[in-house]
Amino acid sequence: MEKHLPSLHFEFYDNQLMSPLTVVNNGHTVNIDLPRSALVPQITGGLMWEKFEPKSIHFHWGSPNSKGSEHTINNERYDAEIHIVHKNVRYFDLSVGEASKFPDGLAVLALMIQAVPVSKRTDNPLFKIFDVLPQIIPNQSNATIKGEFSLQQFLDQVENKDFYTYKGSLTTPMCAESVTWTVFKDVVHFPQKEMSKLWSLRDSRGRPLINNYRKSQNINYRDVYFKHAPVYRGP
Ligand SMILES: [Zn+2]
Repeated sequence: MEKHLPSLHFEFYDNQLMSPLTVVNNGHTVNIDLPRSALVPQITGGLMWEKFEPKSIHFHWGSPNSKGSEHTINNERYDAEIHIVHKNVRYFDLSVGEASKFPDGLAVLALMIQAVPVSKRTDNPLFKIFDVLPQIIPNQSNATIKGEFSLQQFLDQVENKDFYTYKGSLTTPMCAESVTWTVFKDVVHFPQKEMSKLWSLRDSRGRPLINNYRKSQNINYRDVYFKHAPVYRGP
């Protein structure tokens, strides 16, 4: 369904994120909490009627034998998926968990990752995150990322900014109906050799932390919109 949705509007997305950034294996995923900086990046547009600020980044992935993106695009599942979790600025005094109790509490930007055979290093910030994965193999371990990157650098990995958007839920337990999803159609290419580092991580029982994606859900009469539009960057 295509509808006249506002274009996405990003503010301060090209600012370097406050360092040091810590990458955590929390037993369910690889998570990076984003410290608040003076110039807070914000996003609006699409189905996001208000401004949302980025709070964390995490990943979903498969296994050596299975793909692990949560979304499928035209029935195609990708190797992995990046989620940049945002909280509505209206709930500035609430935690992400508390904001998730409101239907307009959260917004997630989702980017699909496709593994590719070449292993040439680029300015894709995933490299800096994946560099430290071998240091966070046990559950509840963490490591500091070397160097800096901006959220814009993630978005720069996709060539066109066409996106799907819908009102949905979190994909982790509670699955609160509080998320405005924005899923980019274009995919991020990332070396297979790097991706395989994910499969070495361990969960709380010491088992391989793999296939941490939720099975596809019925659409439940939700409207999913597609937007073909340029992206305006501000301010
Ligand atoms: Zn997620």
